[in-house]
Amino acid sequence: MTRPLITGNTALLGVIGYPVQHSLSPTMHNAALQELGLDWVYLPFPVPPAQLAAAVAGFAAMGVRGFNVTIPHKQAILAYLSEVSPLARTVGAVNTVKWTETGWSGTNTDIVGFLAPLRDRDWAGAVAVVLGSGGAARAVVAGCADLGFGEIWVVGRDPDKLTQFVASWPSLKGLRAVPWSELRPLLAQADLLVNTTPLGMHPQAKTSPVTGQDLDQVQKALVYDLVYAPRLTQLLQQARARGLRTQDGLSMLVQQGAAALSWWTGQPAPAATMERAVLEFLGGG
Ligand code: NAP
Repeated sequence: MTRPLITGNTALLGVIGYPVQHSLSPTMHNAALQELGLDWVYLPFPVPPAQLAAAVAGFAAMGVRGFNVTIPHKQAILAYLSEVSPLARTVGAVNTVKWTETGWSGTNTDIVGFLAPLRDRDWAGAVAVVLGSGGAARAVVAGCADLGFGEIWVVGRDPDKLTQFVASWPSLKGLRAVPWSELRPLLAQADLLVNTTPLGMHPQAKTSPVTGQDLDQVQKALVYDLVYAPRLTQLLQQARARGLRTQDGLSMLVQQGAAALSWWTGQPAPAATMERAVLEFLGGG
């Protein structure tokens, strides 16, 4: 990719996190901005938690158009927003912020990203098993609720966190949380199995959240790994070896970025260009 030409009019977007060096968003968004022919750039900003207020005030003072938010600021950013979308409120986390007439407005595009590859079938009444109970699991549960899943089982290792997780969705009747020891019997009924843990993600690429014996129980589930580096994770390899359908995390990454970019710019985002940029950066996946 050639570097963008910076002019006196260049508008600024970015991502805040701590650390933020690992983020693929600058690569993905700058490729898209060039494709769109916009005089905008997208930069990474490592913002320590104690500097979040100063960073957000500074962005407003400097006319930053919008920014993505990653760990550890996805909840803390809520305190600095004048408006929060209902989806982001449900999830309790914001990953995209835009400057508006009334101040900073926040939303969560992870749900749109997660749902993108699932839209081709009817999931009403289906059974989802979600591995992990962190931030991404919340977006996944919101997405599954949106698709009308009848049962959503969240599997986690911290009993207190699991209790809090379920308590935070009082209106979601089909949501249950269980420890890993109870995973195996759930798998035979599952229509969708989603990994939201970092197991399988570089540098833990040789790990999987489940054993082969666990996966032997799966009859019909689509196995969806949110991990995108490597693309073909250990979990997806295990699933393919058993003839199961699989979905990697790349399209979620690209589609959450495309939804953010089109919100900031008011234009459709070039998702194919964004995907190509990420794949080139990752060395072909
Ligand atoms: P997070 O908030 O830190 O949550 C991670 C979850 O995994 C927690 O529930 C954690 O359990 C669990 N976990 C971690 N290590 C584990 C282990 N060894 N055994 C069992 N459980 C373990 O992180 P996140 O933001 O949800 O992200 C999780 C993963 O999803 C990351 O790999 C991230 O890259 C990926 N992701 C991908 C996309 C995409 O666009 N494709 C978007 C978002 C996230 P505890 O709560 O007990 O610590």
